[in-house]
Amino acid sequence: MGKVMVIGCGGVASVAIHKICQNSEVFTELCIASRTVSKCDALKEKLQKTTKTNITTAQVDADNVQELTELIKKEKPEVVLNLALPYQDLTIMDACLEAGVHYIDTANYEPEDTAKFEYKWQWAYRERFEQAGLTALLGSGFDPGVTSVFSAYALKHYFDEINYIDILDCNAGDHGYPFATNFNPEINIREVSANGSYWENGGWVETKPMEIKRVYNFPEIGEKDMYLLHHEEIESLALNIPGIKRIRFFMTFGESYLNHLRCLEDVGMTSIEPIMYNGQEIVPLQFLKAVLPDPSSLGPRTKGKTNIGCIFIGKKDGKEKTLYIYNTCDHQECYKEVGSQAVAYTTGVPAMIGAMMVMTGQWKKPGVYNMEEFDPDPFMDALNKWGLPWKISENPELVE
Ligand code: NDP
Repeated sequence: MGKVMVIGCGGVASVAIHKICQNSEVFTELCIASRTVSKCDALKEKLQKTTKTNITTAQVDADNVQELTELIKKEKPEVVLNLALPYQDLTIMDACLEAGVHYIDTANYEPEDTAKFEYKWQWAYRERFEQAGLTALLGSGFDPGVTSVFSAYALKHYFDEINYIDILDCNAGDHGYPFATNFNPEINIREVSANGSYWENGGWVETKPMEIKRVYNFPEIGEKDMYLLHHEEIESLALNIPGIKRIRFFMTFGESYLNHLRCLEDVGMTSIEPIMYNGQEIVPLQFLKAVLPDPSSLGPRTKGKTNIGCIFIGKKDGKEKTLYIYNTCDHQECYKEVGSQAVAYTTGVPAMIGAMMVMTGQWKKPGVYNMEEFDPDPFMDALNKWGLPWKISENPELVE
């Protein structure tokens, strides 16, 4: 059918690229473009013999709009799947507009010097994408991404009105290290050390980091401690789900992770303020990233499951109704299939599906959109087909 260009070749990209290669009817050609071209070449070497998708590779600095535009114009993909870091979202969107191709990502733009997740920068591109007749699909990972599609699906098929959403992200995987992050350490630590917040009655309620703790008994996993975090899908769901009164996001963390994080914070290692060290400017968090285990090395050692989903409370035919839609994913199964643990898997699979939705025209509309703004049904079917089957419970335990 067409050509996709993947930008970035880290943990999430590796899974998405494996899945693109399994789906060569849709993705007849693939260009992998990243900062370190040797990683792209190594993946091509591994996958080309297993797939009909024709793979090429390229070196690119995704902070440089001109370089990106030239590469996109030369390679001529139909869609660009941005799996670099959130800092590159705007430069890649600019290059897609210049070159006339559709855009998909998994995380919203964040300026490198301010740990602040907000859609305002990317939503400001709406008119330009509309006028160019191009689609930009934002947040096609698991959360945001699948959680947003679960919300649209619940609204379409189960509710007249959804009033409360709790998004629960549980990783019960054990990698055996005292401290490591499951995806890019810099992005992960910026997220969990920021203030928490949730949406209630039309506005944000801010909390201190890890201030709100709950214990939840996750299906197929058991009881885990979870903490309220700010998360980007809350911002768009608050606008796109009519009748919503409250949206919260919880993520599980073990005691060891939190103790290490507190200690690193106390000594200043998680700071994003540059400091001088031996005559060179360094950012403590970037230095910390360099000494922590590489998330892509966790695959063979991580055992256990993830469970990510949404609990909805709302009304159907005038009566109160509850619903839980979730996916569980086994770290070792993911490793066997694509050589990565479940956190990269649960992000890389929906990234491929988002690119497929745009490529096949099932989700194609000029403008900039969040995931819940499209028909959820084809995406939900694709999750079942491509490795992330979901389950529904109509009588779930609720979060207090
Ligand atoms: P990694 O750090 O493993 O990979 C990032 C890749 O981008 C690397 O290959 C890196 O190159 C490349 N890159 C970084 N900067 C540039 C640049 N300037 N030019 C070209 N390439 C660049 O990150 P992850 O795979 O863990 O995460 C990828 C994205 O997925 C992130 O945006 C993250 O926030 C998002 N994510 C979304 C989730 C969701 O559920 N929605 C969950 C988890 C992650 P190099 O190899 O040279 O370092």
